[in-house]
Amino acid sequence: MDSLKEACFTWLVIRRACLTHEVLQRRGIQICSRCYMCEQEVEENGHLFLHCRMTTDLWNMFICILGVSWTMPRTTFEVLTRWQRIGKRGSKRDWWKNVPACIWWTLWKERNGRCFEGRTSSSQTIKMRCLSLLFFWCKQDLVGEVDSLVEFIGQL
Ligand SMILES: [Zn+2]
Repeated sequence: MDSLKEACFTWLVIRRACLTHEVLQRRGIQICSRCYMCEQEVEENGHLFLHCRMTTDLWNMFICILGVSWTMPRTTFEVLTRWQRIGKRGSKRDWWKNVPACIWWTLWKERNGRCFEGRTSSSQTIKMRCLSLLFFWCKQDLVGEVDSLVEFIGQL
């Protein structure tokens, strides 16, 4: 990162202020809530950004790459504070710090595509998009070391 837009969005997520159905309902808007990603649960902050099936896939992808053990906390706020501790493994790179923001941003874009444009991407596409976004955010720090997304993934 850190474009201001993404940083602000992350802040909205951990403050549970990003405009999910949960927030709209809290503001008194009548809505029949359904998660756009899995269509099974109501759309609330913790579900959409932490526990939804699609979301779990994204988290697992990075947890697997990092080789860490991780139990998902209940809130996005806890995730952000706990996630900052996982990387202290002598790694000189701190690309992993961007992972929560990257997952949340990717999900929110997909969610809005489904919600407003009726556009649905496959889970494979969403995963690829998430990795590409992380690469894009980290690229500046990796100039001269990594030229392509494939190389980047190889180095994670
Ligand atoms: Zn869901």
